[in-house]
Amino acid sequence: AALETLQGFLVGLDARMKRAHKRGRVAHYIPQLASVDVHQFGISVCLASGERLSAGDAATPFSIQSISKVFSLAIALGRHGDRLWKRVGKEPSNYTFNSVIELEQEGGKPRNPFVNAGALVTTDAMLDAPDAGGGLDRLMDFVRTAAGDDRISIDEQVAASEYRTAYRNFSLAYFLRSCGNLHMECERLLQIYCRQCAITMNCEQLASAGRFLAGFDSAAHLLNPAQARSINALMLLAGHYDGSGDFAYSVGFPGKSGVGGGILAVVPGHASIAVWSPGLNAFGNSLLGTRALQELSEFTGWSVF
Ligand code: GLU
Repeated sequence: AALETLQGFLVGLDARMKRAHKRGRVAHYIPQLASVDVHQFGISVCLASGERLSAGDAATPFSIQSISKVFSLAIALGRHGDRLWKRVGKEPSNYTFNSVIELEQEGGKPRNPFVNAGALVTTDAMLDAPDAGGGLDRLMDFVRTAAGDDRISIDEQVAASEYRTAYRNFSLAYFLRSCGNLHMECERLLQIYCRQCAITMNCEQLASAGRFLAGFDSAAHLLNPAQARSINALMLLAGHYDGSGDFAYSVGFPGKSGVGGGILAVVPGHASIAVWSPGLNAFGNSLLGTRALQELSEFTGWSVF
């Protein structure tokens, strides 16, 4: 009965979000993302019991963008453990996600692994010895295993489109490299980073892929539980950039957004949730995705507080 109630809620939520007037704006700085239809909305929830409930455009693929930073962090942390924190901090950021000034202020050590500078370091740390398949074999294996779906792939057009216009990320990479905080050449790293951001998933796949963070037994082989908990802490502090406080306040559980309009949210012990709607708010996070998670949190009482 509880499952049916939750399913009914999700269907109603989808209908409300589809009708919403204010939908935000799609990201324009990555050419391929600028043409996505803003009227879409989807949500998928994986529960500890193994069930998955979905509503709306939950099977429509989208570009996961910065949500990929959660998976690269999981691999880098699994590889290096706490040594990783010598190269990247675990503090929230006061600046926008691609801030240059903050990186200089911090002497080339990014505030956290989710701002772009921090993600570049994390990807560099994940890779140390890049393998043949464009460097991302290990990440793709991880994501496919976590989701239990071998079809997940990279949209090479999105990757190429971002790479061609990645001026800001290049400047962050050159600065990091000048500080000795990148091992790879900037061009190679940026190619890999843009491809990592261009992983395409739908809500159902993404919710499944997030189960290893929710502490479900079935996913414990992917990352040790203590490390999964640390990633949740960082998602709560920094997963929505300088809008993270707002997200923690209104939703109350860890989440990581991407400029494609997706959000992966984790309710430890209870659920892994993916929501997607391409219109963004002023912080660059999905406007309706955030609102939907707030309503879901109120309905279920899932706030970790
Ligand atoms: N690929 C995007 C960038 O590096 C990711 C940003 C995001 O999703 O927030 O600018």
